Amino acid sequence: MNNNINITRTSMPPYEEYIEMIKPLWESHWLTNMGVYHQELENNLKKYLGVQYISLMTNGHMALELAIQAMHLKGEVITTPFTFVSTTHAIIRNGLKPIFCDIDPVTYTIDTKKIESLITEKTSAIIPVHVYGQVCNIEAIETIAQKYNLKVIYDAAHTFGETYKGKAVSNFGDASVLSFHATKVYNTIEGGAVIFHHSEYGEELYRLKNFGIRSQILIDGVGSNAKMDEFRAIMGICNLKYIDYEIVKRKAIYQCYIENLVNIPGIKYLDIQEDVKSNYAYFPVEFDSEILGFDRECVLEWLMEDGVYARRYFYPLITKTDCYKALYDKGFTPIAEKVSSNILALPIYADLPFDIVKRICNVIRGKING
Ligand SMILES: *Cc1c(COP(=O)(O)O)cnc(C)c1O
Repeated sequence: MNNNINITRTSMPPYEEYIEMIKPLWESHWLTNMGVYHQELENNLKKYLGVQYISLMTNGHMALELAIQAMHLKGEVITTPFTFVSTTHAIIRNGLKPIFCDIDPVTYTIDTKKIESLITEKTSAIIPVHVYGQVCNIEAIETIAQKYNLKVIYDAAHTFGETYKGKAVSNFGDASVLSFHATKVYNTIEGGAVIFHHSEYGEELYRLKNFGIRSQILIDGVGSNAKMDEFRAIMGICNLKYIDYEIVKRKAIYQCYIENLVNIPGIKYLDIQEDVKSNYAYFPVEFDSEILGFDRECVLEWLMEDGVYARRYFYPLITKTDCYKALYDKGFTPIAEKVSSNILALPIYADLPFDIVKRICNVIRGKING
């Protein structure tokens, strides 16, 4: 144990509650392969999110890979470079070519004004990301997708519990993908899900997450193994009971940050968007070194000296990673490059003490004007 403050701290249900709920597994000996708790969590999530179809997966990344695979896409996919590397890996691992579109400087989501110029006869889909839970320009993306007959798969890993115009943010697009990783707002330890609108697509997902097996003797496609087990499904059932309360507590942390960082020239944080109920998943701050006289790296360092571990989400930019820079670092996404160099995600989680938030803000404020 140490007293360092990390960017997040995993939410866990009361110990006794979880232990009580896993006891029946010692009777049934049914630990995975779409058991009763898998079913129960899918039902609970459908109800909570207000969605018609959901398919649980072993993690968010496999949910993304299989959501793409089940769509039978070809050629090129327009996406954002300002995301967790999982988004791009999932596209590449499906044999598709990512075409990187720059981001909006206010929301950091894909700049919909720049999508159309990237569309070619090879384009088959748009894969945007609701980064930090900032909702993409859903209407504009829908209009473009209809005009060019493209599929839309949202990486909605950051949006659990969020609504846009009263609907779950993960309910938009042909499919949306959620992550239930331990570091996310809602967790099943590791886990994820695909939300979609057609039962045939759901059958395809089910087949893909279970080795391509359609029935005991019919295996007619190349599948993977992406099933969620019963222990994690139970973790999810328990955590779901507390999620609304967790988000309320996160909101208070967000407000505390705002109160202490408001009106500082050179410091930009995200506002809550119109028509959006936020989940307060992240608190990213952009530091403009020309105005402040110090940069993001300095802030990271100063906070670390104080035992606070902020994170450079998302840095390096996907197009600058060793994995992709030879292929994609063409400098076509200058705004994403700038944001990636200047941004620092500060700690935020339900039980983060307010005096820590104030301490973090004081470290930053203390360096301003000398
Ligand atoms: C966390 C995350 C993923 C991957 O989810 P896992 O559950 O960790 O596999 C994908 N995309 C984004 C934007 C994420 O933040």
